[in-house]
Amino acid sequence: MRAIVYEKFQGPITLQNVDDPTPKNHGVVVQLTATGLCRSDWHGWMGHDPDIDLPHVPGHELAGIVSAVGKDVKNFAVGDRVTVPFVCGCGTCPQCHSGNHQVCDHQTQPGFTHWGSFAEYVALDHADINLVKLPDAISDVAAAILGCRFVTSFRAVVDQGKVEGGQFVAVHGCGGVGLSAIMIANALGAQVIAVDINDESLKMASDLGAMATINAASSKDVVGQVREFTQGGAHVSLDALGSQATCFNSIANLRKRGKHVQVGLMTGDHQHPRVPMDKVLANELEIIGSHGMQAFRYEALLQMIQEGKLQPEKLVERTISLEDICHELPLMDSFKNRGVLVVDTFN
Ligand SMILES: [Zn+2]
Ligand SMILES: [Zn+2]
Repeated sequence: MRAIVYEKFQGPITLQNVDDPTPKNHGVVVQLTATGLCRSDWHGWMGHDPDIDLPHVPGHELAGIVSAVGKDVKNFAVGDRVTVPFVCGCGTCPQCHSGNHQVCDHQTQPGFTHWGSFAEYVALDHADINLVKLPDAISDVAAAILGCRFVTSFRAVVDQGKVEGGQFVAVHGCGGVGLSAIMIANALGAQVIAVDINDESLKMASDLGAMATINAASSKDVVGQVREFTQGGAHVSLDALGSQATCFNSIANLRKRGKHVQVGLMTGDHQHPRVPMDKVLANELEIIGSHGMQAFRYEALLQMIQEGKLQPEKLVERTISLEDICHELPLMDSFKNRGVLVVDTFN
């Protein structure tokens, strides 16, 4: 099969012919119809992810058709149109037994723990608990951007932040995660304040329903401005980027008993950020993480998409070919794209 391969971190990314994958007994192989390009793929290529062995095929947001099935798989067959959350559970550890596959003790992540979806075919493990059948009404391109940023935002806003209509929600960072969160919080009836350093991204945030935007590059007091827009502080605030500054601001701009949800990955120098712990104590703030989403929660998400309340395809900036990844992936840290790039051509 054709696949995007790198042989050393920060090294050349090339299109190569490699062996087709075969399914494990509990797994399947999926022929890709669409796959999204995400900043986590850039982190992987940089060498920030300890799970990656070289040579490596990245890619973790995907939609496709099941093309081979392991002998123990009961619920899926060749020809099924499916997607998968980027964190796949094992189904047997204490976390999975408690229904929290997104923090599975033995989790697999295509494009990180094994070869991913920047290829014609990808192997996926423990298919019965991780695959999600796609309704016909949801396009391949829309489905391909759900698996990482969109489901992570859905869990952050709906299940972790428990956002309700009428609440004020601040979103720090308007990349794929932040824009998804804005769309989801807006659909729930919340009033969203979007923060970013790029006016183009803030424009997109407004288009997706943010009631106010703040450019953090030109603002002298992001926290003060959020407090002003939200009449005393956000009920729920997300760090959708993952940096010292956005994490601090997201906690500091909360009202009493507000919730900060950390959604952006914290890597490198940003791993252990400064936290206004005095405010956490005095104001009874909650600090919550959000990491992927269980496959069984897709039902609620797909329902909202089918009802037209969520339109993930609005986040797509343009579609590209598999080969285009070679030059697009290294640019993922330059934040030049307003929206999401999705591969929809594999040959
Ligand atoms: Zn598990
Ligand atoms: Zn991702």
